[in-house]
Amino acid sequence: MGERGQKRQGERSADVLVVGGGASGMMAAIAAAHTPGIRVILLERNEKLGKKLYLTGKGRCNLTNGCEGEVFFSNVLTNSKFLYSAYRAFDNRAVMELVERAGCPLKVERGERVFPVSDHSSDVIRALRAELDQRGVQVVLQSRVCRLLTQGPLPGEEGPRAAGVALEDGGTWKSPQVILATGGLSYPSTGSTGDGYRFAQACGHQVTPRTPALVPLTVREGWCRELMGLSLKNVSLTLKKGSRELYSGFGEMLFTHFGVSGPLVLTASSYYGAGGGGQMGLELDLKPALTGEQLDKRLQREFAQAGSRQFSNSLGGLFPHRLIPVMVRLSGIEPDKRAGEITRTERQAFGEMIKRLPLTVTGTRGYEEAVVTRGGVEVRQVSPSTMESKLVRGLYFAGEMLDLDALTGGYNLQIAWSTGYLAGRSAARRAAEGSSARKTENKRGTGRI
Ligand SMILES: Cc1cc2nc3c(=O)[nH]c(=O)nc-3n(C[C@H](O)[C@H](O)[C@H](O)COP(=O)(O)OP(=O)(O)OC[C@H]3O[C@@H](n4cnc5c(N)ncnc54)[C@H](O)[C@@H]3O)c2cc1C
Repeated sequence: MGERGQKRQGERSADVLVVGGGASGMMAAIAAAHTPGIRVILLERNEKLGKKLYLTGKGRCNLTNGCEGEVFFSNVLTNSKFLYSAYRAFDNRAVMELVERAGCPLKVERGERVFPVSDHSSDVIRALRAELDQRGVQVVLQSRVCRLLTQGPLPGEEGPRAAGVALEDGGTWKSPQVILATGGLSYPSTGSTGDGYRFAQACGHQVTPRTPALVPLTVREGWCRELMGLSLKNVSLTLKKGSRELYSGFGEMLFTHFGVSGPLVLTASSYYGAGGGGQMGLELDLKPALTGEQLDKRLQREFAQAGSRQFSNSLGGLFPHRLIPVMVRLSGIEPDKRAGEITRTERQAFGEMIKRLPLTVTGTRGYEEAVVTRGGVEVRQVSPSTMESKLVRGLYFAGEMLDLDALTGGYNLQIAWSTGYLAGRSAARRAAEGSSARKTENKRGTGRI
C-alpha cells in the first residue's frame, strides 16, 4: 500500500497506529489488521522496513527457536514471567506458520535454531511485507515520530489516553490506539536510537537502567591483543563475581584487540550485565574434555616425548600455534628449559593454568556492537495480557523497548513477535469496540433527531 509521502496531505488518522517498522512493529501491524474494518498505519523512520532484521543471524535471520515453551522461558533472562500470555497468544509455531504461509519456507538447524531455507533474512522481511500488504496495512516510511500525543484524563477516568503522535516533519497522526515498537539502543545505525523510551518517560513510565547485552567484553590483560583474531573452539569459560559463579558454558570464543568475543562470550556478557557489571573474573578452561588429572598425565607424556627439546617447542600438540608463546610466557617456566627437565611442581602449576586461565573483565563494548539492550520500559507498568500501558489508556508497547532480553538462539526475535502480536491484537480489539460503540451512539443520535 502507501509509501513515502502518499498520505501526508490526506486524512491523518488511524484506528491503530504502530510506531517502528522492525520485527515487533511489523508483527503488531499484521496482527491488528487481522480484525476486519480496522485502519492500521505503520510508521517507520527509515527508508525501508526491518533494517535490523536484515542483519540478524549474520544475514540469515535466526527468527525463532523450535524449542518447547519451558526452554523458551529459561532462555529469557529478564522478566520471563511477563511473557507468559504473549507467548501463549503467539508462540514459535505460530510465527513459523505465518512466515511460511507468507511465502518463506523455513528450516531448523543445530540447537533448534530456525532460519529461512534460502539463508537470506531479506526473504523473511519480504514475507512480512507481503502479509502487511495483503492485510491492507498502510506503511508510511521516512516518518520519524518525535512525540506521543495524549489527551485527558476525561471525566471519570484516572489517567490520560493515547491520542496519536507528532512527527519530526511537523505533521501529526491521530489515533486512540498507539503501539510503540521503536526497539532498544543497540546497532543505532539501524534506526533504533531509543526514541520510544523518551515517549514512555514523558507520559510517566519508568525505564529501567539500560546496558548493552549479548556484547563483546573488554579485559585488562594485554596478551589478548596479541591473539587478536584467534578463535578457540571447544573451550569452556566461567564468569565470576568474587567467588560467586555467574555463568559457566562451553563453546567457541574469539580474542580481539580489546578483549574477548564470540558466541560463548556474548552469552557470558548477559550474565555479566545481570550481575551488575564492574570488574569480574573470567576463567578459561582450554582443555575442558580432560580432568585435571588426565591433563597432568597428558603433559607428562608430551614433555617425556619432547625430551631434550625446549619447553617452548614442546607444546605444538596442545595449543594452536599463535597461543604457544603467550602460554609459555604466562607459565613462568623458562622457554629454553628442556621439556624433560620440567619439574612436577612446574608441570602441575602449568596444568592448573590451562584449566583456569584467568582474565579480568573490565566492561563491555558499546551499543554499536551489542545484539540487544538490557533494561527498558518497566514491565510492571504494562499489562502482560494485552501489552497496554497501565498508565495511559490506548498506549501499547512491543519488542526490545520493554525490559526483556534473552540469550542467542532466536529467542529475542520471538520476544518481538509475541509481544508485537499481542499488542496488535489487543489494540485492534479495543479499536473494534470503540467503533461499534460509536455506531450505537450514532444510531441513538439519529433516532433522537
Ligand atoms: C547484529 C544483530 C543480529 C541479531 N541476530 C538475531 C538473531 O539471529 N535472532 C534473534 O532472535 N535476535 C537477533 N537479534 C536481536 C533482534 O534483532 C532484536 O531483538 C529485534 O530486532 C527487536 O525488534 P524490535 O522490533 O523490538 O526493534 P527493532 O528491530 O530495533 O525495530 C525498531 C524500529 O523502530 C524504528 N524507529 C525507532 N524510532 C522511531 C521513531 N521515532 N519513529 C519511527 N520509527 C522509529 C527503527 O528505525 C526500527 O526499524 C540481532 C540483533 C543484532 C543487532
